[in-house]
Amino acid sequence: MKQYVSTTNACKLCRPIGACLAFRGVEGAVPFLHGSQGCATYMRRYIISHFGEPIDIASSALGEKHAVFGGGPNLKQGIINVIKKYEPSLIGVATTCLTETIGDDVSMMLDEFKREFLADADSPILINTSTPSYAGTHMEGFRGATRSIVEKLAQHRLTSAEEKRVNLLPGFLSPQDIRYLKELSRDFELPLTILPDLSETLDAPILLEYPKIPAGGTPIDAIRDMGSACASIEFGRTVSDELSAALYLRERFGVQDFRIGTPIGIRESDRFFSLLEKISGKKTPSFHREERDRLIDAMVDGHKYVFGKKVVVYGEEDLVVGITSFLAEIGARPVLCATGGKSGRFKSAIKSVVDGILRDLPEIREDVDFWEIEELTRQLEPDLIMGHSKGYKISRALGIPLIRIGFPIHDRIGGQRILHIGYRGAQMLFDRVANAIIAKKQRDSDIGYGYF
Ligand code: SF4
Repeated sequence: MKQYVSTTNACKLCRPIGACLAFRGVEGAVPFLHGSQGCATYMRRYIISHFGEPIDIASSALGEKHAVFGGGPNLKQGIINVIKKYEPSLIGVATTCLTETIGDDVSMMLDEFKREFLADADSPILINTSTPSYAGTHMEGFRGATRSIVEKLAQHRLTSAEEKRVNLLPGFLSPQDIRYLKELSRDFELPLTILPDLSETLDAPILLEYPKIPAGGTPIDAIRDMGSACASIEFGRTVSDELSAALYLRERFGVQDFRIGTPIGIRESDRFFSLLEKISGKKTPSFHREERDRLIDAMVDGHKYVFGKKVVVYGEEDLVVGITSFLAEIGARPVLCATGGKSGRFKSAIKSVVDGILRDLPEIREDVDFWEIEELTRQLEPDLIMGHSKGYKISRALGIPLIRIGFPIHDRIGGQRILHIGYRGAQMLFDRVANAIIAKKQRDSDIGYGYF
C-alpha cells in the first residue's frame, strides 16, 4: 500500500494566481477567475502584499448550487459586469479547483457567450486557460496563460519591423527585471516584444486617480505581430514543450526559437548577452561590459566572505536553477535546492548549471513542502537561506539569515524592485549575500566589529 504523506505548507502557490499575473501583464486586460470568491481574495491579498499595488481580479463568485448545476450563467453574468465596469480590451479567464472539479467547459461557455453578446468588432477578446490547482504550481499557471495568449492572438502579419523584432518570453520576473530588459532592448537597438510585461501594471508611479485598469502591459497589437518576429527568446531551463510559447511560435509560424536559462549570474547572463549580440549584430555596449568587469572585481574582493559558505535555496524552479548557478560561480556551496514544482527537468537543470564548478552536487528536491525543507535545513546547517518570505519561520527558528528573492515577499518592502538578472542583478545579489554573511558573523561574535 502506498504510504500517505500530507503536505505541510507547500513550497508553491496556486496555479491560477500565476495565470492572473500573466494576464495582468497584457495591456487593457482584466484577470477573471471562474470559481468561488475566496480564491480571488487570497490571490489579491498575495499580489498586493508583494507588489504594493492594487489589483482587481474579477470572479464568477460561485456558490453551493453552482457546484451542482455548473457555473455557466455566473461566468456569463460576471463577464458582462466586467465589460460594463472596466471596458477592457481583453478578459483572461482562469479556472479554479472548483470549476475544474465540476468539469465546466469554459471554452464552450465563452464561445456561447461570444455568439450571444459580443457581436461588434470593439468587443473585448476573451482568452481562457485551464488552471486546476491540485495539479501544478503558479508557474505552470503563468506559463500556460502566456501560451494561451500567444495561441489566441499571434498571427503572421508582414510588418516593416519583421526582420528585427524579437519576442522575449521572460517567465515570472520582477517588474525591475522587466525594466532592465527594456533597457537592453534600447542599448542593443533591438525591438523586443516582452510578454507578459508587469513592469508598469504591477509597479506604477504614484497617481492622483486610481485607474480601473493600470497603464502598461504588452500591447495587443504587438502580441499579434509575434508570429512574424525574427526570433523568440524564452527564459527557463525547466519549461516543458507544452507550455513553451516560443516552441508554439516556431511550430506554427516558423519563428526561430532560443530557449535559454534565466540569466541569473555570470554564465547564464553571458549566454543571454551573446544571443543579443548574435541577433542584433551589435557588440555588447561598453556600459554593460563594464558592469560585468566591475562584478568580477567585486567577486574577487568579496571572495573571502562567501567562499565555501553553505546555502539553502528554494522557490520556483527556474529561479532556484539560476540562483544555484550564481552561487556556484561565486564560490559558495549550494547544499539544498528545493522546489514545490515537479516539471521533471529540475534536477538535470541544476546539474547542468553547476557542471564543471561544483565538486559535490547539492541535495536536489522537487515537489517539497516547508516541513521537509526545514528538516533538511536543520541537518545541513547552512550559513544562509535564499528564497521568498515563506522561509522566514525556518530562518527565525534556526537563526540563519534569509535573503529574500522571488515571489511572494510579504515581510519586506521592495520585492517588485529586486533585480535578479544580468550582470547588474548578479552584482546586487553578490553584495546582499556577502553582507548577510558579514552581518551574521558580527551578530554572533562577542566583540561584534572592532575596526573603528
Ligand atoms: S488552491 Fe484551488 S481553492 Fe485554493 S485558492 Fe487556488 S484555486 Fe482556489
